[in-house]
Amino acid sequence: MAARELIFADDESRETQLYACSGCGTVFSPRQYQKGGRPDAEAARAAAESCSPCRGYDLCSDCGGRCMVNNLRCDPCQDIMLEASYARRIAAAEETVIDSPCFSRCGYRFYGDIDSARDAGETVVMGATFRHFVIDEASLVQYILDDHHDDASEYDLNGLSALYEAVSVFNEEQTSGSYDMDEKVKQTIRQDRTFAMIKPDATARGVQEAMIADIEAAGFRILKRKDRALTVEEAEWLYREHSERDHFRDLVTYTVSGPVVLLQLQADLDDAATAFRALMGPTDRTKADPHTLRARYAVGYRENSIHGSDSPKAAI
Ligand code: GDP
Repeated sequence: MAARELIFADDESRETQLYACSGCGTVFSPRQYQKGGRPDAEAARAAAESCSPCRGYDLCSDCGGRCMVNNLRCDPCQDIMLEASYARRIAAAEETVIDSPCFSRCGYRFYGDIDSARDAGETVVMGATFRHFVIDEASLVQYILDDHHDDASEYDLNGLSALYEAVSVFNEEQTSGSYDMDEKVKQTIRQDRTFAMIKPDATARGVQEAMIADIEAAGFRILKRKDRALTVEEAEWLYREHSERDHFRDLVTYTVSGPVVLLQLQADLDDAATAFRALMGPTDRTKADPHTLRARYAVGYRENSIHGSDSPKAAI
């Protein structure tokens, strides 16, 4: 692309002041380009000749279409390339099974985008690590020292322990954070697994072993089992979608009122979560088919004996 020279009429020296791209008119000033402390007219001319906004309209190197971005691939081709690179990274990553994906303080890995990945027909997702917004005290001290002379050391600082204490109070307060994508890990979205919980009304009546026998007879294997009571925080998390409803507090109180049985289940099925919910029956036991768990064991609308995840993400 040729460069046009723009000369200011009132410039007595008549020297070229600016260069413009003859394609799109974008102006390049020698003052943007310095050589030996002086404006570099040649560099400005060269920039106008290979004007970057204009280069953006080159033909796409992949499909031959008109490129709308400042490189040689048009947007659709760019997307295809990104998808391919995502697939390559997933292929290169190591499969990792995480026992305790965590939304809270422990820093375990959490697998993001499971719903969107599943909607896109993907069977694996990249890993991500959840990190709280916290201050690293060592970097904070280093930052203070960097602002002083080279010999400054942390021994010159007074009140360091008060600073550490304040930092730790601050860090403890943080409940939110962000996810860092972790290219080295991937997790298969296990459609053949789900999570279930035998509720306190059932354990209070001692029917949990009978329920587990029914679950196994229906083709579900128990990969993991834990018998314990949930904490209030766990019950609130489990039923967070109900948090605005009138029954929420009573539901949480009931859920922590006694031991539960936590089950990780596996079945040779494409959609274990849906199949397990069919085995469970509807929330209201009076509407449940006789062969379902709730028809057999539930004693009330709330006291309906069993919980089952409604999706792989919920199960995770
Ligand atoms: P589920 O998937 O069939 O367990 O039903 P939901 O996820 O909709 O609700 C979770 C649990 O909350 C149910 O199993 C019931 O124990 C309880 N629950 C849901 N809706 C109500 C309600 O309107 N009133 C009361 N008391 N409990 C409810």
